[in-house]
This record gives sequence, C-alpha cells and structure tokens, in this order.
Amino acid sequence: MSVLVVGSLALDSIETPFGAVDNTIGGSAVYVAVASSYFTNPIRLVGVVGGDFPPEGIAFLERRNVDLEGLQIVRDGKTFRWAGKYQYDLNARDTLSTELNVFESFDPKIPEKYRKSRYICLGNIDPVLQLKVLDQVENPRVVICDTMNYWIERKGKELRQTLERINVLILNDSEARLLSREPNLIKSGRVIRGMGPTVVIIKKGEHGALLLTEQLVFSAPAYPMESIFDPTGAGDAFAGGFAGWLARTDDLHEENLKKAVIYGSTLASFCVEKFGVEGLADLTYLQIQDRFRQFRELSRFEED
Ligand code: AMP
Repeated sequence: MSVLVVGSLALDSIETPFGAVDNTIGGSAVYVAVASSYFTNPIRLVGVVGGDFPPEGIAFLERRNVDLEGLQIVRDGKTFRWAGKYQYDLNARDTLSTELNVFESFDPKIPEKYRKSRYICLGNIDPVLQLKVLDQVENPRVVICDTMNYWIERKGKELRQTLERINVLILNDSEARLLSREPNLIKSGRVIRGMGPTVVIIKKGEHGALLLTEQLVFSAPAYPMESIFDPTGAGDAFAGGFAGWLARTDDLHEENLKKAVIYGSTLASFCVEKFGVEGLADLTYLQIQDRFRQFRELSRFEED
C-alpha cells in the first residue's frame, strides 16, 4: 500500500549535551518518509526546499526509494530552518529558532499519481497546508496526522478543522494537554477524540506511548537505551514506523494498531542513537524485527 507523506524538509541545527551539528538534513517529512520506507512502498513525498538544500539530502531520500515527484525546489529560495537545544533531560527541548523561509509561500500540489494514495501521513506543518492536502486526495483509507505546540498555539482554529478530517492523531504529552486543556492524559485523549480522530497516540518521550481508542488504552514502553545522542525526529520516526506498518498490513484492528505502535517505537529508538537522520540511514528489516521482539520482552511477566 502506498503512503503519501507531506511535511517539512529542513536544515536543522541541533545541540545536545553530547554534541552539536549545524544545518543538517532534517524535517518531519524526511524522518517520516525514511522510517516508513522500511515497511512498504511506494513512499511519496510532498514538500518544498530552497536552492540551498544539499544534493546529499536528495540522494539520501532516493537511496530509500522515496518518490520525489511531489518535491518542489524553489531555486532562489531558502530551505526551512529549525534550531533546537536539549538539556540533560532529553525529554525537554528548547526551540531556539524557526525560519519558515520557502514554507511561508508553500502551496502543496499533489501530483495526479499521488491522489489515490491509501495512507496519508500529514507531518508536522501548518494545519492550513494539511487541509489543502486533504482537499486534493481521493478517498484515502487512513489519514495520520502529527502536530506540535507551535501550531496548536498559532493556528488552533485551523488545526481543529484538520482534526475533523483525520483518523489518527499523534502528539506528545505536553501538546495533548495544551490542545485538550486537560492535564490527565487518558481524559485528554478522550477530549481529543471528540475533536475528530478515532485513534489518538500520546508520546511520552523516554516513557513510551499511549494508544487510545474508544475501547482501548494500550501503554507501550519505550526501548530502554543507554546511549541517546539526539532525540530530534524521534516523533516523526515513530509516525513513519506506525504508518509504514499499517500500510504494509492494511489491517486496522486493535491488535494490529498495537503492533504499529511498537514498530513506531522501534524506529524512534533507532533514530535517537545517532545525530540527525543518520540513525535511520542503514537499517535492515532483520534489525527492526529483532528490536520489535525485544519490546515484547520488556513488559512480559508471568501471572504466578
Ligand atoms: P520531532 O523531533 O519528531 O518533533 O521533529 C523534529 C523535526 O521537526 C526537525 O527536523 C525540524 O526540522 C522539524 N520542525 C520543527 N519545528 C517545525 C515546524 N514548526 N514546522 C515544521 N517542521 C518543524
């Protein structure tokens, strides 16, 4: 099954207690597309970059067989830039700067051959753009959407319109509280489901993720890691792994949603092991399967 990924392509400057990089390839669409490419194909990408986006970034996506027909290149424009800094508590990050650049005038055009994509993954971008994408696709089976505090605070009204048209919302705990104005995460998930999506996934950084549907509260652990270098993109890698598994299996039953959450957590765990997108560069399906199985062991216990 095909996955259409729409989101940011970026040049990120990241500082963690373990190092720093400047202008490295990033952006929500890059992480989502690459993570989902380990599960299914074709992965189709819609986004925009400036003339300064490095050819290595394009080559990286091509190596993962991502279809780039929907990528707009504004030769005389500057790529979206984001800078963030993590303290010792890697769950908390400060955004130092966000420069929208070519994103400011981005008008997503979905190529004809992408319009019938069955799975749509709306990366973390302006909800106005997310709506424009939804207006151009034909009857998708599942729409998965990511967002963040930046958009909840600035484009709350538009985000609510997007929420009415999606099936799965993925967001982190502080964003869930901000969106729902409800401190308890279970209640928060219920409030958000009332806004549209039937499935809400609340990520809790190194404490795992909650999958919430009408019937189900599933708590997935995070993979306990000794070396986390850079959490950037973990949320998007999670979304990509989740979407990729669902598209591969095309099965929306609750048991399979749980597996998709674990595959999402698996891809997120690989992502944080290295700086930027490097952690997702050269995985094998066997490595992914192996870590997926280790997740089962994490919280398995005998009854007596
Ligand atoms: P994550 O760590 O999963 O939340 O995603 C980090 C990625 O999101 C980085 O590569 C950034 O370039 C991108 N990003 C950060 N802020 C924004 C924003 N306001 N809109 C779109 N993408 C963003």
